Amino acid sequence: MSVRAFRQAADAAPSAPHLITELPGPRARALIARDDAVTSPSLTRAYPLVAESGDGYVVTDVDDNRFLDFAAGIAVAATGHSHPAVVAAITAQAERLVHIAATDFYEPRYIELSERLAAIAPFEENARVFLTNSGTEAVEGAIKLARHHTGRPAIIAFEGAFHGRTLGALSLTNSKLKQRAGFGPLLPMVFHAPFPRVRSWHEGSGGDGTAELDVLRHSILGRLVAPEDVAAIVFEPIQGEGGYFPAPAAFIRGLRQICDEHGIVLIADEIQSGMGRTGRMWAMEAYDVEPDVVTVAKGIASGMPLGAMIARRSVMTWKPGAHGNTFGGNPVSCAAALATIDVIERESLLEHADAIGEYILDALAEMQARHPTIGDVRGKGLMIGVEFVLDKRTKEPAHDLAEDITQRGFQKGLLLLPAGVSTIRLSPALNIPKELVDEALEVFEEALSEAEAAL
Ligand code: PLP
Repeated sequence: MSVRAFRQAADAAPSAPHLITELPGPRARALIARDDAVTSPSLTRAYPLVAESGDGYVVTDVDDNRFLDFAAGIAVAATGHSHPAVVAAITAQAERLVHIAATDFYEPRYIELSERLAAIAPFEENARVFLTNSGTEAVEGAIKLARHHTGRPAIIAFEGAFHGRTLGALSLTNSKLKQRAGFGPLLPMVFHAPFPRVRSWHEGSGGDGTAELDVLRHSILGRLVAPEDVAAIVFEPIQGEGGYFPAPAAFIRGLRQICDEHGIVLIADEIQSGMGRTGRMWAMEAYDVEPDVVTVAKGIASGMPLGAMIARRSVMTWKPGAHGNTFGGNPVSCAAALATIDVIERESLLEHADAIGEYILDALAEMQARHPTIGDVRGKGLMIGVEFVLDKRTKEPAHDLAEDITQRGFQKGLLLLPAGVSTIRLSPALNIPKELVDEALEVFEEALSEAEAAL
């Protein structure tokens, strides 16, 4: 199927959700029982979806029920499930070469992808690239690089942040207690500063981060840790897992200023917000600020495991042997990433994500006027959060309501994921057609109305 035919077929999908069994269906129930018996109990499945196949924006389960996908595998299926151009690149590469270990040998796809990423890096200076297997590994690399480059031990991260689950990244993660509990001691000299939870994308509507910068400057860098001991400040331009909170521009400018004053490396974690998710290649492009290092993963290869740590040339100065891995920048994943970037460019997905994101935000603002439980709607491009509250004035989070809507969405054939305490994130494929957005919003409101009635 050509790329155009793929999109036309998806656009013409009469009604994406199509449920033919109760949920979970009989095959799903049997598989869930087997899964329960053998997989790590640490996995937390949002609802009993047992996925068999994916096509564009639709996931079909093992009982042939079809779901409209507004989760995209946690914002990963950037070009939709099994985009033909991505599948063709994966297939051709798998026939050519599956693995070589780029730590030890040269490989054309590794080089080409590094060139492409260096060319689009969100800073003017020339970039160098280290490819990883995952987001958390990209963050590990960034922590190590900052320590190595500065010769300093301390790292500053933010309350509500999520940077991954390996021990270094986990030390920065501050999203949910259960993610950290029982795993100490974590990295020493990690300090968490408050993150401004502005309740709208627009500057000034809920604070510009000045108060949080004051705490960082005076309480943390003034009393807890000397700036000359700090290797890096690591932040998400839009907090993802923590609840889809975009940082105000003044806050990010303040971080840059602090880093410049003290020779601290500024690391933007764009693992979720990067690769077009916000309608720009990088969320950082919305701010007039350049980081020193950027981490990316999730959407980079449309679902193949890949991440990258991209750094200014003047920062990535470590010597041969200082860092490496076995699988990072696997040729098949690199081929998928190159195809993903091509699709983003060829199909103008940045413009599409930006426009369709605005459309969704407007529709949600109207929905908010009809539903008092929607406390806030925020985000950019296709990284949109809908926060639910019990009381509009106190903003008391309605965690159970958000959970109920997510479950009801699933029962109606719409895949959603929560974020933070009481937020539902909408993060469909970047090429999601408007017709399917309308359908999803309709199902979303139906689920919301029923959940409100059940309160
Ligand atoms: N950083 C951010 C901002 C993320 O959203 C995530 C994953 O949700 C990670 C890091 C960790 O990535 P991974 O799950 O690929 O290790």
